[in-house]
Amino acid sequence: MLSPVVKEYARRQRFEYKQLLSLIKKYDRIAIFRHIKPDYDALGSQYGLSTFIKDNFPNKEVKCFGDNHVTFTPRLFPESDRENDSWFDKPFLSIVVDVGDEPRIADPRFAKGSYIVKIDHHPCKKDIANLSFLDTSLSAAAEYVASILLSFKKYKISKECASYLYIGIVGDSGRFMYSSTSKHTFAIAEALLDCDIKISDIYLNMYEKKLDDLKVTAYILNNFSVSPHGVAYYVIPEDLQTKLNITSERVKENVNLFSNIEGVNAWCSFAEDNNPKDYCWRISIRSKKKDISGVAQKWEGGGHAQASGAKIKSLDDLPSFIKDLDDLFA
Ligand code: AMP
Repeated sequence: MLSPVVKEYARRQRFEYKQLLSLIKKYDRIAIFRHIKPDYDALGSQYGLSTFIKDNFPNKEVKCFGDNHVTFTPRLFPESDRENDSWFDKPFLSIVVDVGDEPRIADPRFAKGSYIVKIDHHPCKKDIANLSFLDTSLSAAAEYVASILLSFKKYKISKECASYLYIGIVGDSGRFMYSSTSKHTFAIAEALLDCDIKISDIYLNMYEKKLDDLKVTAYILNNFSVSPHGVAYYVIPEDLQTKLNITSERVKENVNLFSNIEGVNAWCSFAEDNNPKDYCWRISIRSKKKDISGVAQKWEGGGHAQASGAKIKSLDDLPSFIKDLDDLFA
């Protein structure tokens, strides 16, 4: 039995939900895309949706595209599909999840879809889809995907599908702690629990660390800085990443060390990313109360009120970036 909160949310969009179901039925080939540098929500919403389609429409060809994650693949999610360009020449339904802005979509071939659907919760500059599901108030794209799939009453949501969606929601709601967590988020989580998922196993898989990872934590605790108005931050350049045996994507894993420290209003990590196509320092920003997405947008980024990402080209920009954040709390 779905809770009235979930039913009411779905009722308001029932025509669009039905339209999506018709599209899934219509196309024999479906490709699902996510954002670059995937996180729990990008992968959870992508694999939740693909598993649902494969479980209920076993004759369809369903592919998931985008780069694998350094530690989540294959521990939590399967390897991404790899297809050469000819695959995209025949008609297919393109579904883009957890991303709206074109440059952040992990594979530009999403645009070759005969019809493009987007399911997202990020503010977006220019819509890329023929049919858009966009609600920036939702905690996670996986919350949206779950709302849609749970409304398709005749179809089954397997334990595997529900587990992926739950991971996405836990990841992007900061374990149900960010202000985007709502009654609807909990009601969706409850409905996913009814699909027999084992949350203790899910949490262990998501958050279990290796003993060696404590060295990274120790480094950060010994080397962080705090600005005058409570912006805590740490910087891990490439040579140190090598020494600590982590990749640039993993630098942000410790960012929430500062989430419950009195006097710390926002916190961020700086990771040198030596990618030759886009050399930069990737910043993961989190905030207790104030909306930091405006500062993220100013610095080539974006995201949500309490969890955003940005980048700077050189550490020379770090003081100006920190000042922008610090000014929010002055
Ligand atoms: P992260 O710190 O990488 O976990 O990202 C936090 C949130 O900000 C996620 O919702 C990301 O999708 C979003 N985000 C991160 N980097 C960017 C960027 N450069 N542009 C737009 N959104 C971003």
